[in-house]
Amino acid sequence: LLGDTIAANFDRAVATHGDREALVDRTAGRRWTYRQLRDEVDAVAAGLHHSGVRVGDRVGIWSPNRAEWVVVQYATARIGAILVNINPAYRVHELEYVLNQSGIRTLVAAPSFKTSDYAGMIEQVRPKCPALRDVVLLDGPQWTELHSDDLPEWPELSADDPINIQYTSGTTGFPKGATLSHHNILNNGFFVGELLGYTENDRICVPVPFYHCFGMVMGNLAATSHGAAVVIPAPAFDPALTLKAVAEERCTSLYGVPTMFIAELADPDFDSYDLSSLRTGIMAGSPCPVEVMKQVVERMGMREVSIAYGMTETSPVSTQTRRDDSLDRRVSTVGRVMPHLEVKVVDPETGRVVPRGTPGELCTRGYSVMLGYWDQRDKTAEAVDAARWMHTGDLAVMDDEGYLNITGRIKDMVIRGGENLYPREIEEFLYTHPDILDAQVIGVPDVKYGEELMAWMRLRPGADVLTAEALKEFCTGKLAHHKIPRYVHVVEDFPMTVTGKIRKVEMRKQAVEILG
Ligand code: ATP
Ligand code: MG
Repeated sequence: LLGDTIAANFDRAVATHGDREALVDRTAGRRWTYRQLRDEVDAVAAGLHHSGVRVGDRVGIWSPNRAEWVVVQYATARIGAILVNINPAYRVHELEYVLNQSGIRTLVAAPSFKTSDYAGMIEQVRPKCPALRDVVLLDGPQWTELHSDDLPEWPELSADDPINIQYTSGTTGFPKGATLSHHNILNNGFFVGELLGYTENDRICVPVPFYHCFGMVMGNLAATSHGAAVVIPAPAFDPALTLKAVAEERCTSLYGVPTMFIAELADPDFDSYDLSSLRTGIMAGSPCPVEVMKQVVERMGMREVSIAYGMTETSPVSTQTRRDDSLDRRVSTVGRVMPHLEVKVVDPETGRVVPRGTPGELCTRGYSVMLGYWDQRDKTAEAVDAARWMHTGDLAVMDDEGYLNITGRIKDMVIRGGENLYPREIEEFLYTHPDILDAQVIGVPDVKYGEELMAWMRLRPGADVLTAEALKEFCTGKLAHHKIPRYVHVVEDFPMTVTGKIRKVEMRKQAVEILG
């Protein structure tokens, strides 16, 4: 394990790989070597210091992906300010909540993005946020003025201190702010990169949001701890711009949640991009369909692609597939436990470890477990027990050799006629239908069985309508009778979070209305 602070680790990258490219922002057409990035980071860190920001103060960043996001990440790490990642999709009320919940002193924000007027929303909430002293808008004089070449003596920092508050995706409820230390996230980024075999020759294409751990830890911190470069294809996910960035920047690694890879593979111009530089990458964030993984290997050439599983509260990654795992395991499991961490699968009722092959709640323990939810002790105690095990709320099955399969969230399990049904298993089967682009299965209330299955799906362009009858025919003989979805609902898009997670809670709500 690395004992360093994020700043010390960053300085080592500059010392070792100073003239290598560190960061490419394709939107602004900017590129920095590690040394150039360090100069930019130091100027902003100095400016924040001169404005009065001290160790432990909260600095918020509210912006889609762009180079300045990364600059602020390392500038706050330099001076020991706690960076608070704010979801770019937030609206006024959510902004007010996060500003007050974490007590943000200085907010760095993009002035606007698409239809979001960030500057306007900030002005609206400002009178209601007493802790908020300074607002720095990017692209304006405030950002330029924040730069200072009068470098102060940097404070002594401890790797165990909090350095980051990351709000969870809010897939199952209101987002919670996970408080993370240098030690938590730096080590997680380091080991993610280690398992992918990153060196200074790697170039990582990051279309996932920086505001989320996938971007800022598995992307940025994995890169700096191995001297690799981060390529930002666009401010927010765009399949064509992502493929173009991979081709033109000769990226060796590509990240995404399953829906992003699905969109890239379905891009009408897919075959026109030269993706031959791709070696590896990560799919994570939601259950990764085997069919999609296979295509990522075969059509995108990501021979060494890895699946990672984790959550914001655990910095995030707890399990990951290795390069030397069999192809079969790399496309169908979330791998084994990460170095220096522990996992166990327990009966959620009794807390006892279940036999291998039996589904139960996944618990994780080790250096990566968050310090706690920011200012929410009760919630922390519900998630992390006295022995420091994180109760993930996810269902998993472990095989004899320690490989794990995530069968879904406990809350998404369907109980039909007293029998536990795992939507994941049914979704995996539906992906084998030639007309189905993306499938999600939920439970809906039913008088007779308690719950019934409903399949939501997105169809490939030009596909015929898919009725419940036709689906039943497709499933019969291949899926047990009680696992065949009773209802079918075809949609253009699923309700999703900004982090690309499917909001099944919202789908269940809409389903109840649809079924009347
Ligand atoms: P909230 O906690 O606010 O409801 P969230 O759990 O989606 O939102 P994150 O911390 O971003 O917030 O996501 C972690 C969750 O994502 C995990 O608990 C798990 O359910 C899911 N997940 C992550 N990686 C995988 C994976 N490889 N396979 C299956 N599920 C995954
Ligand atoms: Mg969660």
